[in-house]
Amino acid sequence: MIEIRRQDTDTTCAVCGRTVLLGERLVSFRRIGLEDAMVCELCVDQADARGWTREGAPALPVQLAGREERGLRALLRPRKRHVTAPEPFDPELLPEDPADAVEASLELFNESTHPRTVSGIARTLGDPRVSVVRRSHREVVVTVAWDLSWYQYRVDMLGAQTVTLQRRGEELAELDGRFLEWNAQAEPDGTVALAS
Ligand SMILES: [Zn+2]
Repeated sequence: MIEIRRQDTDTTCAVCGRTVLLGERLVSFRRIGLEDAMVCELCVDQADARGWTREGAPALPVQLAGREERGLRALLRPRKRHVTAPEPFDPELLPEDPADAVEASLELFNESTHPRTVSGIARTLGDPRVSVVRRSHREVVVTVAWDLSWYQYRVDMLGAQTVTLQRRGEELAELDGRFLEWNAQAEPDGTVALAS
């Protein structure tokens, strides 16, 4: 239903301004009074929030015209609104055992919206390599890497924003060696687990 294009020339995301990588997916959005915009997968929610409508999104069905939610925007909004990141831990409940802390951090990552991004990119670029590095008693760094791009997330179990995209880049050489020990894996849905 939603048209997703594989881009074959250099294209810039209309939201974040990033040059979209070869092979990465783009979603085309209609904007009132402006030309259509191409948006990278990471910015689709933001484009929705701006009121842009996805090309190929269904027109307003007649039988839904009297619904409580009014306007095309309300109809096009996904049913389940995901929170950006799950709630932080109560400091007293923070796991003391390092292995438990890593597991708890991964649970927070997996409950966030970021696995969706990982899964989306993996559909194009294949299975990523994943590392999980504990940075402090409350923080874990999750690195997800393909040959053409990498994303690094910080999970702060006590932070107001528990899971954040910290950095992203294109070359693995940009990353510190300690993040290149691939000790974890991503499932098809983008959730991350330590390698068994
Ligand atoms: Zn973008």
